[in-house]
Amino acid sequence: KERTFIAIKPDGVNRGLIADIIARFEKKGFKLVGLKLVHPTEDFAAEHYDDLKARPFFPALVKYFASGPVVAMVWEGKDVILTGRKLIGATNPADAAVGTIRGDYCIIMGRNIIHGSDGADSAKHEISLWFKENEIA
Ligand code: ATP
Ligand code: MG
Repeated sequence: KERTFIAIKPDGVNRGLIADIIARFEKKGFKLVGLKLVHPTEDFAAEHYDDLKARPFFPALVKYFASGPVVAMVWEGKDVILTGRKLIGATNPADAAVGTIRGDYCIIMGRNIIHGSDGADSAKHEISLWFKENEIA
């Protein structure tokens, strides 16, 4: 079965959106198979976003992602990678459709409350970066 890595970023945790976000994935029909609260170091945040290290916003992104605890999750189900991205909405909250998580809850690209793997390779890589095999049900 397909799996993806989803993280509620520090502002999502701070703003009390954990339950709502988990509920959206559950109600859609996906299965939660990994879950933990982690405060990433800046080094770990940089590793997570390694593919973006050449981008001008990378230092700010790393600081943001390491600014507090994040809810790290593995979700499982049919087409969960692509459908999870649809539940999340566009990267820029201004472009995210109403009804998506970003479309409903945020306005700033650099504070967009949730991360989701963007493909099969990144899902596999991110799940193994964040979770040990025995931490996944
Ligand atoms: P994520 O990987 O967090 O799920 P994404 O896949 O929608 O987001 P990416 O291109 O992977 O988008 O960018 C990672 C994160 O970097 C974005 O979620 C956003 O917080 C930040 N980011 C991306 N582009 C910009 C930008 N032009 N200016 C500021 N921040 C940006
Ligand atoms: Mg991405």
